[in-house]
Amino acid sequence: MDTKSLNPEEINTQNSRPLFSVVIPLYNEEENIPELYRRLTGVLEKLCADEGCPIDNYEIILVDDGSTDSSWKLTKELHEKDARVTGISFSRNFGHHIALSAGMDHAEGEAVVFMDGDLQDPPEEIPKLCCKLKEGYDLVIGIRKKRSDSLYRRAISYLFWIMFKTFMKLDIPENQSLLRIMSKKYLANFRKIKERNRFLDGLFAWTGFNQTTIQVEHAPRFAGESKYSTWKMIRLTFNALTSFSYFPLQLAGILGMSISTLAFLTGLWLIIGRFYFNLYVEGWVSTMVAILFMGGIQLAFLGLIGEYLGRVFTEVQARPLYMIKERTPSGERVLSCCGRIK
Ligand code: UDP
Ligand code: MG
Repeated sequence: MDTKSLNPEEINTQNSRPLFSVVIPLYNEEENIPELYRRLTGVLEKLCADEGCPIDNYEIILVDDGSTDSSWKLTKELHEKDARVTGISFSRNFGHHIALSAGMDHAEGEAVVFMDGDLQDPPEEIPKLCCKLKEGYDLVIGIRKKRSDSLYRRAISYLFWIMFKTFMKLDIPENQSLLRIMSKKYLANFRKIKERNRFLDGLFAWTGFNQTTIQVEHAPRFAGESKYSTWKMIRLTFNALTSFSYFPLQLAGILGMSISTLAFLTGLWLIIGRFYFNLYVEGWVSTMVAILFMGGIQLAFLGLIGEYLGRVFTEVQARPLYMIKERTPSGERVLSCCGRIK
């Protein structure tokens, strides 16, 4: 394989960092964990061997996002049998993107992989991403060749992407999956982002660096149902919109100005009509419609301003991003390897 060191100047050959960290958020994924572990370890062992390292030179970080099934129990059992598995259990459900952020905070690998825990991102695609990273990129994002999701889900995602392009001017690749790999240097910089209302896809696009994409397979869920309820998707959309754009606030001004101009012209017309054309306008229906219309718009935009204010409030409160209820004991992993990607 044509190999190239990731960041030669940063690599400490004496260190005990794993070569790869794989971060996986889990929310009630008990049916998927055993298969995920089986397939993922197979891929990672081969990858480490190809890099000339001992086959166990990786860590798998499972972040349990407040599951109510036996996901955490299974994670602990995996850790007991295999110290390369690290488990972090949140005190409640904090959300997918926060779980990923926690994984980032704990990842020690030279390269860090993100993937979902339902096997929609096939682990067998990781070597492809790794090869691309070695070409000198800081971040390689997987693009789904064909999305294996319901029509409803695909439609929502498409709308979401259009919104991103139009309002936020962020260059987010269409059909991107969570499956991605980043260098240690990229991760160290990403960790400096402290905002609490976080929308990771936007933040990845915002960071810059040397990013690229590569096509990957996308499979149907191995087992279970999607853990993203419609409400969670609406929240995420709103979060994204208000994190990366002032357009909703500007829209209030634009709409206000347009309606005022229209009202001024109507008033002018009524005055002219009264004096020159003997025109009388009567009826309370039109008055009521105008009042209700304006009242509705004002309340809607007050709510929107409240949303931004709420976000400022959350940031000022500076609560921790997540709370860890339990984590698997650390310090058991013995790494013997080069700790580098060649
Ligand atoms: N997930 C999570 N917290 C949540 C919702 C989802 O950690 O509140 C995890 C979930 O267990 C899975 C990943 O995020 O590993 C993606 O979720 P899912 O597959 O349900 O989303 P979809 O593929 O339907 O968009
Ligand atoms: Mg999924």
